[in-house]
Amino acid sequence: MYSIISYLLLMVPFSVLFNLPIFFVILKKKYLTVPYGITVAAILGISLFVIYPFFWVVLCVFFFSSSMLSRMKAKDKSNTTIDFAKGSVKRDAMQVIANGFIPLLFAFGYVLFELLPKIVESDTILHNPNNPLFIGVFVAFSVHTADTWATEIGILSKKPPRLVTNLRRIVDPGTSGGITLNGCLASIFGGVLIGIVYFFAIVISFPPIAINRQIIIILFLIIVGGFSGSILDSIEGATIQGIYYCNHCKKETETNPHKRCGNKTTLYRGNRLINNDFVNLSSALLVTCFISLLISII
Ligand SMILES: [Zn+2]
Repeated sequence: MYSIISYLLLMVPFSVLFNLPIFFVILKKKYLTVPYGITVAAILGISLFVIYPFFWVVLCVFFFSSSMLSRMKAKDKSNTTIDFAKGSVKRDAMQVIANGFIPLLFAFGYVLFELLPKIVESDTILHNPNNPLFIGVFVAFSVHTADTWATEIGILSKKPPRLVTNLRRIVDPGTSGGITLNGCLASIFGGVLIGIVYFFAIVISFPPIAINRQIIIILFLIIVGGFSGSILDSIEGATIQGIYYCNHCKKETETNPHKRCGNKTTLYRGNRLINNDFVNLSSALLVTCFISLLISII
């Protein structure tokens, strides 16, 4: 027990110290809603840092790259994003949960099944970069990064999107389930970025002996996981997500009432209970569980 107490005494103040400037930037740039968005993000940031600082690094990479892409050409996008469930410029508590809960779940799982048994056995905190739950944290962030990048870059595409469940059908920009080539490429790059963070995490925090052939496979799975998660997100958007129709604007929207005009909308496909946050969360959960299972058997 001695090691865990000394670890917490060291890491909690460190975590607060590292997170403070980050939250200062978030507040200044108005990336999150106050007080709920920022409070949930603080819990997430501090917990991930204490468990393993690179989990926190990957959170920051996801969050800041996504927030910056959201701000990119925000004016050009506003005509499309107003029909989305959430304006993508300022994120609220539910969005933080939708994008942070699965990584945190896997991080807690990693503590429970990898770190705690070792502490009980030998009173040491030893990380294991090959643990499927450890890798799951990166896979989950890869899904969220890939998905957000695909959305933010996809909206700017000059070519109209096609429906993921029927690629011959061209749909309006912003339609749930619509995909573009640019969006797909962006989602791959998002996954690659998270793969790079994983690679640096391993190189910096583990002895060279830990770097082996398996890392290449894991990097590949992090990228594939991100891409397939963003595709699954689109499939859910095209099938089960509740999508409404505004009779006033003659437009499809994710919200009821319609944010653009304030009028009531009618459910026109999908399920009322399944919103954008549910889609984000469930696609990350499914893909991360699948990849982690795959890693545990290879
Ligand atoms: Zn309307």
